[in-house]
Amino acid sequence: MMQDMSTRNDLNHVVEADKAHIWHHLLQHKPLETSDPRIIVEGKGMRVWDQNGKEFLDAVSGGVWTVNVGYGRESIAKAVYDQMMKICYFANSAGSVPGALYAEKLISKMPGMSRVYYTNSGSEANEKVFKMVRQIAHKKYGGKKTKILYRDRDYHGSTLAALSAGGQDERNVQYGPFAPDFVRVPHCMEYRKHELGLDHLSGAEFGRAAADLIEEVILREGPDTVGALCLEPVTAGGGVIEPPAGYWPRVQEICAKYDILLHIDEVVCGIGRTGTHWFGYQHYDIKPDFVTMAKGVASGYAAIACTVTSERVFEMFKDNADDPLNYFRDISTFGGCTAGPTAALENMRIIEDENLLENCAEMGEKLKSALQGLAEKHPVIGDVRGKGLFLGAELVSDRTAKTPVSEKQAQQVVAEMAAQGVLIGVTNRSVPGKNNTLCLSPALIITEEEIDIIISTLDAALTKVFS
Ligand code: PLP
Repeated sequence: MMQDMSTRNDLNHVVEADKAHIWHHLLQHKPLETSDPRIIVEGKGMRVWDQNGKEFLDAVSGGVWTVNVGYGRESIAKAVYDQMMKICYFANSAGSVPGALYAEKLISKMPGMSRVYYTNSGSEANEKVFKMVRQIAHKKYGGKKTKILYRDRDYHGSTLAALSAGGQDERNVQYGPFAPDFVRVPHCMEYRKHELGLDHLSGAEFGRAAADLIEEVILREGPDTVGALCLEPVTAGGGVIEPPAGYWPRVQEICAKYDILLHIDEVVCGIGRTGTHWFGYQHYDIKPDFVTMAKGVASGYAAIACTVTSERVFEMFKDNADDPLNYFRDISTFGGCTAGPTAALENMRIIEDENLLENCAEMGEKLKSALQGLAEKHPVIGDVRGKGLFLGAELVSDRTAKTPVSEKQAQQVVAEMAAQGVLIGVTNRSVPGKNNTLCLSPALIITEEEIDIIISTLDAALTKVFS
């Protein structure tokens, strides 16, 4: 990106304005007293440019698994512009043309599901499920079955109820007290199965045993008190964890046995991120009652999130029209913005027309095997995990003891990669201050040549930081 002098001066002013007034998300601000924030000024395809004109290959899709179709999509911008000139907004008690058309298209990709509730963020989409579950408990179970189970290492959002369902302690400490009736179940991470006392098991046997731990919690709490189980199909911020074979069929069995609704949080995995299928849960033959999604729905071109339910759930809210409380008494003001579903429709068209589900699966395999290749050379890579273009590499100082490297070292790898022009992330979040898992989640349009750039840059960064 070329910058003339007036652009440079404007951007200098922007940096000062940012430093004076912006409270950035998820960032320690003390270092910004002596350095500048990174301001992303422009993006095209897989690449972004900062205020200094420095180019980066973005291997994290906008930092947090969001820009699935890449930057600078004129057709999305144009569709949103045209729609806004027709009608920008009306509260969603009334309908809208793009709202109805996107819901129809989305449901056509989700056999067994039938209704779409529009909101603005992943946290909010999950909150809606929690409220629905609580209302069902009151309507159908005499105020019982209000408990919602969530899993260690999973994350469902930043609002207080969503944090109450948060399995990542780094995000939770100092924000309590939390909402009642959210109960944690153990994680299902094979790499750290010793924490569960299950190191004698592997593969599907381990998967079943990890799911059995959920049943133990249900029995301890009392099955008649548990309304729903909320899970990420592949855990994102908790360390990029794909549950092992054997896990999901057992989860489904347990939910059916105890009449527990299954809520799958697809905020990260949804809309193609895991490859081949539109949703993560579709790899595992799961039949959810609720599916929530946000980030990739419109690839960040507009704010939109969806809570999708089965018709069975929807029916529970309209069985007695004489009861004035017998509906979901909830609204999300900006769930009526037409920009969201318009951008989402075009986003989906692009993914279909450009075969991005297939590209994601193919490039994801390539990136994963290249990371596994790097693990042979760098003993600091203890584990490579994930599905599609949703991958993680856990860094450990001792492979046998699986001791995490310090967060500072993991951050040094990220900083070194950025200095060389490639953006990746680091996560884990389950133990405060111990983030040690590198995140690689490029847009679904990535090419083999770009994967080679990511891998050679990572190779050099690991050599620099750890030798
Ligand atoms: N659920 C999952 C799995 C997430 O990873 C996130 C955010 O990273 C959320 C929910 C919350 O989404 P939002 O930040 O849009 O509220």
